[in-house]
Amino acid sequence: MPRARTPNGGGITRGPCGGAAAQDTYPDRVIDLRSDTVTRPTKGMLDAMAAAPTGDDVYDEDPSVRALEERTAELLGHEAGLFTVSGSLANMLGVRAWVAPGRELLCEAQAHVVRAELGGHSAWHGVTTRTWTHDRGGVDLEAVRRLMTPDAGPYLVSTAAIAVENTHNFAGGTVHPLGELAALRELVGGTGVRLHLDGARLWNAQVASGTPAGEYARLFDTVSVCLSKGLGAPVGSVLVGPADVIAEARVWRKRMGAGWRQAGVLAAAGSYALDHHVERMRDDHANARLIAATVADAAPSVVDPARVETNIVLLDVGESAHRLVEEARAEGVLTGIVGPGLVRVITHLDVGADDARRAAEVLARLAES
Ligand SMILES: *Cc1c(COP(=O)(O)O)cnc(C)c1O
Repeated sequence: MPRARTPNGGGITRGPCGGAAAQDTYPDRVIDLRSDTVTRPTKGMLDAMAAAPTGDDVYDEDPSVRALEERTAELLGHEAGLFTVSGSLANMLGVRAWVAPGRELLCEAQAHVVRAELGGHSAWHGVTTRTWTHDRGGVDLEAVRRLMTPDAGPYLVSTAAIAVENTHNFAGGTVHPLGELAALRELVGGTGVRLHLDGARLWNAQVASGTPAGEYARLFDTVSVCLSKGLGAPVGSVLVGPADVIAEARVWRKRMGAGWRQAGVLAAAGSYALDHHVERMRDDHANARLIAATVADAAPSVVDPARVETNIVLLDVGESAHRLVEEARAEGVLTGIVGPGLVRVITHLDVGADDARRAAEVLARLAES
């Protein structure tokens, strides 16, 4: 049994990422669609972990960690990389590189950095934030233009950086058009305002759009990517950016108590995932589309399948959200609530096409009733 979490007063179901807490009392097989973080390492991945050469990473001597950092930096077109325990830590280290205490970060209002990192950016690094809203979690260039005050003098907060999330989690796994991001890069131009990309699911964006992750990443000053989401590694993210920024992030990682020693066993899982689990995300996307289409057939107002671009499906079920989550759970289908009336379904490595079909039937029946 997982530990019960403190109710947060937001009407969010307990459990990781707003999901119902998992238990062992389900009908035959549980299909866990609460998050793509719930995957277990595969046999091939465990073998790669067991075979990994290791050393002390605080001394920068773990060959498996270095290989993963260098490879990720190269894939994303940046100078250097830093392996971190979580995406939240990678984001905090990236943002703090650009935003001094008391300065501000701009982002979309549903961004993970302001909604799901528990105030870490301010609690650790004194970062303040202002947000714009966008239906699909995207960049509202006009709003950014209005909000951005790079050098606001002694009366107003000065903007130091802007964070973008691709794909956007709470907007339903939406992919940002490359042109929109290029326009943002153009907009910040010579202002000195820096761009951070929260690319927890950048691999999903690559697979869905056909645009290489590096094409997105090169428009940003720092980029974080998760290995523990669609890629299916048990732990880890990588922050990439300029060599001096990454060197300083390495200092801050240790300062925050997150230096690790023979982390190569974990890095090896990430490297294995980059080799074997990127292209297969097509299956996750197809499964998500199948679930959306099946639910939309039964209850057209609940989801628009055309909005499902990657592995996340948001079901807008209004008042029935808690009932739906509980009833689905009783039938062995785990989902979560991520906003008022919004049930989130995420497909991943441990959900096969049969599971997706069964979950789709259950959710469609419950959404219809
Ligand atoms: C999951 C996620 C992260 C990082 O989460 P951790 O649990 O800290 O690894 C960051 N950004 C987005 C958009 C995410 O979905």
